[in-house]
Amino acid sequence: MTISLAVSPQRAADLGQRLARVSARVAAACLAAGRATGSVRLVAVTKTFPAADVAALATLGVTEFGESYDQEATVKAAALTAAGVPVRWHMVGRLQRNKARSVATWADTVHSCDRLALVPALSAAAVRAGRRLDVLVQASLDQGGAAGSGPAGTGPAGTERGGASAPDLGALADAVASADGLRLVGVMAVAPPDDDARAAFDRLAALSAGLRDRHPRAVEVSAGMSSDLEQAVLAGATLVRVGRALLGVRPPLVG
Ligand SMILES: *Cc1c(COP(=O)(O)O)cnc(C)c1O
Repeated sequence: MTISLAVSPQRAADLGQRLARVSARVAAACLAAGRATGSVRLVAVTKTFPAADVAALATLGVTEFGESYDQEATVKAAALTAAGVPVRWHMVGRLQRNKARSVATWADTVHSCDRLALVPALSAAAVRAGRRLDVLVQASLDQGGAAGSGPAGTGPAGTERGGASAPDLGALADAVASADGLRLVGVMAVAPPDDDARAAFDRLAALSAGLRDRHPRAVEVSAGMSSDLEQAVLAGATLVRVGRALLGVRPPLVG
């Protein structure tokens, strides 16, 4: 089965304009923060959007893409590979242990490692696939309890907010750092919806600093989405995960 990677001229123009706007927002936030523009990488979150949109954004220079659902990402990654379009894939959605084996076949980076039970599963999956996965440990920024300890909370735009509580984050990071096939690269979080995003991302920056005391190379901070990327950049994010601002209104997930 071949998936068409063609977009209409209107869609190509729309994506180009959106990308220019998002890039300008990131650049302005970097300027305001006194940071180099190149210090923030854009991850285009393409969940629920077709592989053709990924290809169109790749043509415009985007190289990193985020997905939330294993099955959908597997199909899209295969389509881009078949077309010879080189992109890097990030798993940003809530991760189920029984999906680890599949995720390890397409993802280069996993942002959503939020509990110890995932670590041996991801490690075994990476080894089995003959790959090394970059892993960020996901922190809960909720005050007064971890979103990850119960059913996942929801964040802006229906994003699922898991995340280890601050006291659990260190042990989780240590486990990732010592697991075969995994490389600990940093921390990730989604801001709680009813909170000041800047204050929440400052808490993440503090968690990142604590982590780097033990793991100096785990420098990545994945924070900020369409609605709060400026606050994330001001708080030190190195990866912003942007969906709707780049791609428009998200179609409902089918299946
Ligand atoms: C969907 C999603 C995003 C992108 O959100 P937008 O509001 O569309 O920019 C970022 N991070 C995670 C974890 C997501 O699930």
